[in-house]
Amino acid sequence: MAITQSNIYESLTEQTAIALAIKLRIFEEGKVLYCKEIGDGNLNLVFHIYDQDEEKSIIIKQALPYAKVVGKSMPLTLQRATIESNALKLQASIVPDLVPKVYYTDESLAITIMEDLSHLTIVRSGLIDNFDFPILSKHIGEFIAKTLYHTSDYALHPFKKKELVRQFSNPELCKITEDLVFTDPFFNSESNDFEEELLPDAVEIWQDFKLKLEVAKLKKSFLTEAEALLHGDLHTGSIFADIETTKVIDPEFSFYGPIGFDIGQFFANLLFQYITSKEESKKEKILSYIENTWHVFSATFSELWKESLDSYTKVEGYLEYILDKSFKDSLGFTGCELIRRTIGLSHVKDLDGIEHYDERIQAKRRTLDIGSFLIKERKQFSSIDEVIFSLKTFS
Ligand code: ADP
Ligand code: MG
Ligand code: MG
Ligand code: MG
Repeated sequence: MAITQSNIYESLTEQTAIALAIKLRIFEEGKVLYCKEIGDGNLNLVFHIYDQDEEKSIIIKQALPYAKVVGKSMPLTLQRATIESNALKLQASIVPDLVPKVYYTDESLAITIMEDLSHLTIVRSGLIDNFDFPILSKHIGEFIAKTLYHTSDYALHPFKKKELVRQFSNPELCKITEDLVFTDPFFNSESNDFEEELLPDAVEIWQDFKLKLEVAKLKKSFLTEAEALLHGDLHTGSIFADIETTKVIDPEFSFYGPIGFDIGQFFANLLFQYITSKEESKKEKILSYIENTWHVFSATFSELWKESLDSYTKVEGYLEYILDKSFKDSLGFTGCELIRRTIGLSHVKDLDGIEHYDERIQAKRRTLDIGSFLIKERKQFSSIDEVIFSLKTFS
């Protein structure tokens, strides 16, 4: 099977993916290889390739020239594969244990060949199945603090930082977030997707001008604050874990944005589990993950801050200002993510997987209400404990 000249893009099939692995001599010669396309994401192809004795395995992720979830009518830059592999490599230089190893990349084929993490569980599925991830919040708090601090102006020479801002300029993927997270769900847009029964709830959101003004401010932060290199899509479907390991995948949305964004996406996707769970002990566990993520993030970030060479980082109150702003922003971004996954284009299994129709609608009303509340009231919170208390007493 010819895998054609490597400077011409061609989308892989299970057969040509094997041919590529052979051509690149990734496996021992003569091994019989198996391949399965396992991508469950919205945008890309993911091939799992392993040998006959299952001694070795790899993942080949390939960007398609369009969004898989929509089809060829929504063209999308192949450049995102390069952004993804560059982000994985940069993150590996900061937090090597928290990302998959990258073995090979080919810009024209838009592929990243990486470590196979199939022995771990995607956190979204694991949480739905009531798994415990006792180290997850510590790892994600550290991941966010370290990757964001080390790519920010607090850590880098201004030339280096601006070079990274240019390298990770990611306009097409940012536009997806700008539209699908920050705009469409708050207007009566074509792309919205929800049960008929939620129409009155959606209309309430579309007519809530106080809410929309706050979302406009959050969107402005996302558009204009090139503070640190974000992961950009840090939901629980972008994290593999077990009880002692955590690996963050899928940073194709990576770009320079406000620190609170990654934190907010992670919080929101944990909150889907808090909102949908019927068991008190599980609800408590999810809230403890949220609480611990914030504590680990702020402690780790504060520790790194001491290394900063920027004179202003020695000025009393500046660190507290940055942390407080990121905290309030993160609550707003949490609210946007809760709302967009409920009435916007791309849904989550945590909600759509609820089989009982009335229960599903109830859960969705709750994510909308909590989302609106966090967006509008984010500024009154000054600690994660206050947020947890407020979630517990939310009615
Ligand atoms: P997309 O950008 O299309 O969302 P993802 O990178 O999230 O693609 O991958 C989609 C799915 O492919 C994941 O949910 C997971 O099941 C599988 N996958 C991706 N990367 C790996 C990996 N390194 N090891 C094992 N499975 C993976
Ligand atoms: Mg994904
Ligand atoms: Mg209501
Ligand atoms: Mg992706």
